[in-house]
Amino acid sequence: MVPKVVFGRGCFDQLPSILAPQRKDKAPFIYLVDDVFKENEELINRMNLRFNDKLIFVSAEEEPKTEQVDTIVKNIKSEFTYRPSGIIGVGGGSILDLSKAVSIMLTNKGSASDYQGWDLVKNKAVYHVGVPTISGTGAEVSRTTVLTGPEKKLGINSDFTPFDQVVLDPDLTVGVPKNQWFYTGMDCFIHCVESLNGTFLNEFSKSYGEKAYDLCKEIFMNGNLTEVESRGKLMMASWHGGMSIAYSQVGVAHAMSYGLSYVLGTKHGVGNCIVFDHLEEYYPEGVRLFKEMKEYHNIDIPQGICGNLTDYQMETMIDIALSLVPLWENALGEDWEQKMTRDKLKELYLKM
Ligand code: NAD
Ligand code: ZN
Repeated sequence: MVPKVVFGRGCFDQLPSILAPQRKDKAPFIYLVDDVFKENEELINRMNLRFNDKLIFVSAEEEPKTEQVDTIVKNIKSEFTYRPSGIIGVGGGSILDLSKAVSIMLTNKGSASDYQGWDLVKNKAVYHVGVPTISGTGAEVSRTTVLTGPEKKLGINSDFTPFDQVVLDPDLTVGVPKNQWFYTGMDCFIHCVESLNGTFLNEFSKSYGEKAYDLCKEIFMNGNLTEVESRGKLMMASWHGGMSIAYSQVGVAHAMSYGLSYVLGTKHGVGNCIVFDHLEEYYPEGVRLFKEMKEYHNIDIPQGICGNLTDYQMETMIDIALSLVPLWENALGEDWEQKMTRDKLKELYLKM
C-alpha cells in the first residue's frame, strides 16, 4: 500500500516541504511531468526546483514503453554522479506508471522488460512520489506499472512499485478535456464492475469496489454535483477502484482492451470504453449504466476500429487477449476456456 498520502484542494503546494526531508546531499530530485503542462509556468513554479533538480517533460501521446524507461534511466545515470533523492511523477496514468518504473530501474540492473511480471524486482526503488492530474486509472495507488515491451504489454508488479508518497490535489485535474475525463473516469467504473462481478472477489476488494462504484454513479449519473465536488469525488473513486483491483483482478474488458492496445495502439481509457460498450452479455447491469452515462454526457466512442484488420492482426489481438489468464479466470471462472473461445472473441472484436 502507499504509506503516505495528502488530499485536498491546493495541497500540491505542500510538495516542496514533503520533499525537503528526503533530499540527500548533491542528489537531485527528478520531476517527470506531462508535457501538457509545458507552458504552465504557475504549476512549474509551485514545484520550486532547487540546486541540481531536473524537470523532464514527457508526452503522454503514447503509453509508456520499457525502452522509454531504459532511455530515461540511462540519461539520468550519465548526467548525475549521485543516485537521485527521488522521482516525482506529475500527470495521468501514463506518467505515473513511467515514474514508478524509472524509480525501480535506477536501483535494479538490466532492462525494464526483464521485470515485467510478478515479484521479479530485487532491490528497493528510489523514493518516488505520484501526483495525479487526471483521475480514474488508480495508477496512483496500485502495485503495478503497465509497460509495453518488445514481447508483451505487462506490468512490473512488485512490493517496490507503489509510490512512497501520493499528493491528491483535485484542482490539478481542472482542464482535462471532456472526452478524456469520461474515458479515464470509466476506467475506474470498469475496474469496479470487473472486480465486483469477478470470482476472485473478497470482502477487502468489495468494500473498496462498492464505494468507488457508488461514487462513479454520483459523478456520472446524477448531474447535481458542482465541478469542485465532482473532481474531489472522482479522485477518491480512482483511489478506491485501484485498491479494489489490487486485491482482486480485472476482467473481460481489460483483457480485450489490451489486445486492441497491442495491435492498434488504442489507449487504455478509450479502449476500455470501446470494448465495454459491447459486453452486455458479461456485465448486463454495468453496461446498461455505462450506456446511460455515455448518452447523458454525449460522449463519442470510436466505432468500427476492427473492421479492416488483417487476419494476422485479428489473430494477434486474440492471442494477446487470451494470454491474460488471471483476468479470464476472474471473469468467467476456472473453466473459462470453454466459455471464451477464439471464435467468440473474434465475433466480439468484429462488433467494435
Ligand atoms: P494519460 O496519462 O494517458 O493521459 C491522457 C491524456 O490526458 C493525455 O493527453 C494527457 O496529456 C492529458 N492530461 C492529463 N492531465 C491533464 C490535465 N490536468 N489537463 C489536461 N490534460 C491532461 O491517461 P490515463 O487514462 O490517466 O492513463 C492511461 C495509462 O494508465 C495507460 O498507460 C494505462 O496502461 C495506465 N494504467 C495503469 C494502471 C496501474 O495500475 N498502474 C491502471 C490503469 C491504467
Ligand atoms: Zn484499467
